[in-house]
Amino acid sequence: MKKDSVCWNITSRCNENCQFCYRIMCRKENTYEQNNKILDMLIKLKINKISWTGGEALLYPHLFDLMKKAHYNNIKNNIITNGRLLTPKIIDKIEEYTDYITFSLDALNDNVNNCLGRGIEHGKNIIELLEYLKNKNIIVKLNSIVTKKNINNIIEVAQIVNDYKIKRWKLFKFISLRGKSIENKSEFEIDNETYENLISEIKKQKMNCPIVVCREKEIEENYILINPIGDFIVTINSKDKVMCNFETIEKINIEEEYDEFRRKLGFI
Ligand code: SF4
Repeated sequence: MKKDSVCWNITSRCNENCQFCYRIMCRKENTYEQNNKILDMLIKLKINKISWTGGEALLYPHLFDLMKKAHYNNIKNNIITNGRLLTPKIIDKIEEYTDYITFSLDALNDNVNNCLGRGIEHGKNIIELLEYLKNKNIIVKLNSIVTKKNINNIIEVAQIVNDYKIKRWKLFKFISLRGKSIENKSEFEIDNETYENLISEIKKQKMNCPIVVCREKEIEENYILINPIGDFIVTINSKDKVMCNFETIEKINIEEEYDEFRRKLGFI
């Protein structure tokens, strides 16, 4: 599959503690200078969109500098965030170079969010941000993870998708890919039938919900990941495969070896 976007896990640090989390954990993270080199590569590779994620992308101190540079080089920016560090003031500041903000919202109920590890007021905070973003020139998307603990709360999220005219709602079936999601698999796992029934149930509600179904297969196929130390990773059959680290490919003349380079990184 030809791919034109990357999911850049810029930091492993996070300010929430989701018990189903499958983020890539790295003890170290690249310096700003190293990340600038990676961004230069992505610009030469004519990448269309970067989804900035983590951990929590907003914990990385130079995120906005990188986003600005990406924007002025015709790359679209999508911040995937739990919203805890986002404020109206910050939204005003980044509006010019931010194309999309994608919030994680799996339930509105405080008890459920607490039990998932997101903590209380997660839902309330996201709703406040959605209100503020109504009048902004940024496309808002939502990601929800469907697990045993919040399956009964997904319809209330569907209502939010409908009410706030969310442009795209990714409904991820829980997968045990890395870290906590493997440790806590039995508490969160749902079977395929339960997931498919939920999708049908939402469709029956006749709400305006632009759902993107994300089962294991779609999750693996759609992403090229960059981890916090600059490894380019593809996930195949639930295993991460490091295609290359940015330092080993720095010397390649990208213009001359464009296709070869994309192949090495997993883009073709
Ligand atoms: S799922 Fe996202 S917000 Fe939750 S702990 Fe993992 S990286 Fe943080």
